Amino acid sequence: MAKKQFKAESKRLLDMMIHSIYTHREIFLRELISNASDAIDKLYYQTLQDGNTGLSREDFSIEIIPDKEKRTLTVRDNGCGMTREELENNLGTIAKSGSLAFKKENDAKEDIDIIGQFGVGFYSAFMVSDDVTVVSRPFGASEAWKWYSTGSEGYTVEPAGKDSHGTEIIMKIKDNTEEDNYDEFLDPWRLRGIVKKYSDYIRYPIRMDVEKSRPKAQPEGEEAKDKEPEYETYTEKETLNSMVPIWRKNKSELTHEDYCNFYRDKFFDYNEPLRVIHSSTEGASTYNALLFIPGKAPFDYYSREYEKGLQLYSNGVLIMDKCPDLLPDCFSFVRGLVDSQDLSLNISREMLQHDRQLKIIAGRLEKKIKSELEAMLRDEREKYVSFFQAFGRQLKFGVYGDYGAHADLLKDLLLFHSSAGKELTTLAEYAGRMPEGQKAIYYACGDTVEHIEQLPQTELVRDKGYEILYLTEDVDEFAFQAMRQYQEKPFQSVSAGDLDLESEEEKKQAEEQAAEHKDLFAFMAEALGGKVKEVRLSRRLKSHPVCLTADGAISLEMEKVFASMPAENKPKAERVLELNPGHPVFQTLTELYQNDREKLKTYADILYGEALLIEGMPVEDPTAFANAVCALMTK
Ligand code: ADP
Repeated sequence: MAKKQFKAESKRLLDMMIHSIYTHREIFLRELISNASDAIDKLYYQTLQDGNTGLSREDFSIEIIPDKEKRTLTVRDNGCGMTREELENNLGTIAKSGSLAFKKENDAKEDIDIIGQFGVGFYSAFMVSDDVTVVSRPFGASEAWKWYSTGSEGYTVEPAGKDSHGTEIIMKIKDNTEEDNYDEFLDPWRLRGIVKKYSDYIRYPIRMDVEKSRPKAQPEGEEAKDKEPEYETYTEKETLNSMVPIWRKNKSELTHEDYCNFYRDKFFDYNEPLRVIHSSTEGASTYNALLFIPGKAPFDYYSREYEKGLQLYSNGVLIMDKCPDLLPDCFSFVRGLVDSQDLSLNISREMLQHDRQLKIIAGRLEKKIKSELEAMLRDEREKYVSFFQAFGRQLKFGVYGDYGAHADLLKDLLLFHSSAGKELTTLAEYAGRMPEGQKAIYYACGDTVEHIEQLPQTELVRDKGYEILYLTEDVDEFAFQAMRQYQEKPFQSVSAGDLDLESEEEKKQAEEQAAEHKDLFAFMAEALGGKVKEVRLSRRLKSHPVCLTADGAISLEMEKVFASMPAENKPKAERVLELNPGHPVFQTLTELYQNDREKLKTYADILYGEALLIEGMPVEDPTAFANAVCALMTK
């Protein structure tokens, strides 16, 4: 029989498995039991839906059979089984495996770690076996197939006999070596311990023959009083797991470790969750929810590929793996599950969307997640900051999305850089620091905090003693626009509109000055040939001669964001070049307006170029700009 080769990636993983270090090996059993349980789930689900499989819940179980003589360990289930094609496709390749996706991202990481933390499905059997045989018969089929492999060599598939549906994994356990003990995987007590540790919540009985001893029955009439009782051994089929899913258990029974193990196992995340939310509710709708806030964003989180959703169970039976309707987009990072007593098993995706129960549950979860995040922000600031680094962007998108419908929900969960110091601040903290009489919440945009700090527009506001929020992400200003205000203070960009920072007298003086130089400004605007809407006297600059601002709803930052998007007719900011009347350069300009208007045109270009550079925007003709500056130097 011709041997078939494993797909390249599978082969690599197999090598990893075979050479993995000792302490992680025990997880192979968890992996096989989890597969067996999934296979039973599939068939049980079908049973519940069709009702004509002739099977009932009690018929399902998983058997573990150690055989010391033959040195085999068998894991047997009576689940859905696999066809020949499925055997080849599922066991000949591991393309779907969550851990492999992780591996691609983190190639530098130790292979070993991944095995330990995740497990890698069926392949982990090769950590403890010289060879593995899989005999499987699909439910409703009459023939069975046998898959056999010694690991890296490839595998064979041939017809086999099997009395009933389901799958049997027969592992030829390796011989002990000087360093490594494999006998333990044939020892019922050890196996029992492993099952309890990792697979206790599996919903179907995991059974094994366990050897026990009892006092021998005494023959009638014998004097037994002062004799030591004699013992005999017997075997008894024992159910090893408690079968209560972790989310149905009492919180008090569970340790952080239990939750972490469950989370890693179920959601393929190598990291510990930052927070575990375990709640059960009775009343209008009865459900258990077990939610996790991950510590890191999955690599595809901010891409289209990422699918949000919670697992949905109806009375302990999985009916949907990723139910999107249970989570608002702003909390799409939450992983976990909901088990409801009130949902019908046969409910379709379309019906779920309109299901009243589900809506109630989703509403409650949204509130719950919010309050848990608030608690984390309040009590575990450092953790929250690391959460925010991973998912803050999503919260801001949430504020902006749906026309601001979630802005209220989310506004107090946001963090920003600010001129007040290195620590991130909430809006509430900012508001708490506002001096009497501050009319607006000031912000400035740029790609880094350092850049923003240098912006000439920030100087005067800071000088007045007002704190400025530093917005470094493209979504920030859009989020502010959606919120409009916080605690009745409007958000005000330092680069737009009237900052209204001057006294009445200063204002009057500025207006007079503006009127006095209006011809100069008009001339310069004309010279810039439509690049700016207007040249204007600045009332926001202190020590810099010039800056660029925008009139209207589109800021320069927003223009940059639009520019990076694949759209036609991208909105543009209405650019305004502002000049500082208190700067010596301004004096030069007024003189040139009188004496040398050709030169003034060049200066207008240079100043505009400078203003663009300060904003982090490209000058339109860098060579011309450089030449103009050089010309100044050689005069
Ligand atoms: P994963 O469980 O992450 O999908 P595995 O390598 O453990 O990866 O298994 C691959 C696939 O093989 C499973 O998705 C399932 O379709 C199938 N499979 C594994 N074990 C069984 C089993 N005991 N019964 C039926 N199908 C199984």
